[in-house]
Amino acid sequence: MTSTANFDSVMDIAPRPPIVFVGGEGSWLTDSEGRFYLDFIQGWAVNCLGHSPKPILDALARQAARLINCSPAFYNDQMIRLSDLLTKHSGLHQVFLANSGAEANEGAIKLARKWGARHRDGAYEIVTMDHGFHGRTLATMAASGKAQWERLYEPKVSGFVKVELNDLAAAEAAITPRTVAVMLEPIQGEAGVFEADVPFLRALRALTRERGILLILDEIQTGIGRTGRLFGFEHAGVTPDIMTLAKGLGGGVPLAALVAHRDACCFEYGDQGGTFCGNPIMAAVGCAVVETVAQPEFLARVREAGARLAQRLAALSARHGGGEVRGKGLLLALDLKRDIAGAVVAQALERGLLLNAPRPDSLRFMPALTVSDAEIDRMSDILDGVLAGVAAS
Ligand code: PLP
Repeated sequence: MTSTANFDSVMDIAPRPPIVFVGGEGSWLTDSEGRFYLDFIQGWAVNCLGHSPKPILDALARQAARLINCSPAFYNDQMIRLSDLLTKHSGLHQVFLANSGAEANEGAIKLARKWGARHRDGAYEIVTMDHGFHGRTLATMAASGKAQWERLYEPKVSGFVKVELNDLAAAEAAITPRTVAVMLEPIQGEAGVFEADVPFLRALRALTRERGILLILDEIQTGIGRTGRLFGFEHAGVTPDIMTLAKGLGGGVPLAALVAHRDACCFEYGDQGGTFCGNPIMAAVGCAVVETVAQPEFLARVREAGARLAQRLAALSARHGGGEVRGKGLLLALDLKRDIAGAVVAQALERGLLLNAPRPDSLRFMPALTVSDAEIDRMSDILDGVLAGVAAS
């Protein structure tokens, strides 16, 4: 498993195992030593169609031969096509294409502040959730509720007020004349897969309307089919004023979107932009992804695969003394009840299975949305052995 490569020139920003990946197909990765790994991380819920899927290969080849970049100061056909697809499916009206989730969220924060300056007497504060995750730029770190970041990169960008997820009274109390928006994830993925419950989301939608402020949903992890619906908000039957997408939207390539209701769209020339924003090659990939994932049969299969995975995890939990299975569709977590998730991830890797531990006591599962029943069962069998091994040690 261990590669002999020299890693010195790569900036050391994470405790990476000494493996070098060189290939991928569907739910499988290959390393430089020719070893196979069953991938239930998929680029952190990014490769929604798995590794190197045909719709993306075709879109990349076709678009690379036509037009790669023509500057964001001009329209291109793929930018228009993807914006049309996203507005048609979301019920929102305008799209700004970006390159990462953090950049899309940064755009959402700017749009809300601009809207507040125009329509709410200069209001700029945004109520966000404890344990939420919105990205790694300075503003999105400040919007996030990650305890480890509390003292990092001071001084913080100001203007974010945190409340506990699913605490409506706290959200209500946090809204003042300075507030311009409430921003949250339909499911807190990085925190360990904790859902904003349906009554809370519905009540927040009503509350934000009543107070005349914006509802921003960060669908970067939950969007594009991950929960078994194209967008996570569909489970609650609410539509936000602003939504952000990334991860699954590009199916593995850097692509993100800020999608907004026409009443919230108030950028003026020069307020927002970016060299790579709306480039046709990434937008072409986004079109291929959305056209594939939005098919009703595709989403029905995600729900079916999610139910099978949840059932397998519940059985493992019962056998190994674990706790609840959290999440929706193919964004699930297993509570292990003990701080053994790091050891489980390490042993799973030894056995050729890639898993993620967002918390010391929980595993997160975010396979390709195309994962097969056989691959779910294989993962479950490997994890069964790993959990037994960790318990024995
Ligand atoms: N928002 C959510 C809900 C996320 O899960 C993430 C990444 O994990 C981000 C924002 C940041 O996205 P990116 O890493 O593409 O900047």
